[in-house]
Amino acid sequence: MEPLFPDYFLVPHKKEYITHPEKRQTKKCILCSIRDRDISSYEVFRGNGIIIILNLYPYTSGHGLIFPERHVSEYGELSLQEVIEINKKILQYMRLLEIAQRPKGFNVGFNQGREAGGSIDHLHFHVVPRYPRELNFIDLIGKTRVLLEPLDQTLAELKKHLEVFNEDPFQSKLVE
Ligand SMILES: [Zn+2]
Repeated sequence: MEPLFPDYFLVPHKKEYITHPEKRQTKKCILCSIRDRDISSYEVFRGNGIIIILNLYPYTSGHGLIFPERHVSEYGELSLQEVIEINKKILQYMRLLEIAQRPKGFNVGFNQGREAGGSIDHLHFHVVPRYPRELNFIDLIGKTRVLLEPLDQTLAELKKHLEVFNEDPFQSKLVE
């Protein structure tokens, strides 16, 4: 099956909702399906209950999604251990991008609830690396973002530096 972009509604699912409304409650969420490997994804890392994948329609090259394996909808549903692990993985992924892609900045965050722009009900964090002069003519005029490299190429480049996930990303040792 083709990889799916977890941040957009999947059309076949929508069709099933219409034709089989009784399946609405039982349909597995996309990130849970990726977790269970029912569908393929550009997986960068998996461990300690956290998964990192490349966004199928990235805002910039290296745009990652970081989510807990456990299906939770709200930040407050995370255990303290999960909060720590997710933040650890966010920092490690940022470090990975710094080594592999040399961005000049990052946007990091999550959208909770559909009103806030959250399109799927499984908490996930976006890490968007930012590069100098990343907007080009077509972005501005055509309102279409142009990818600089294919996702499999980005993934291959990132996977050369997975040792970052063995390193402690926290600079402060105040909390042990
Ligand atoms: Zn889920």
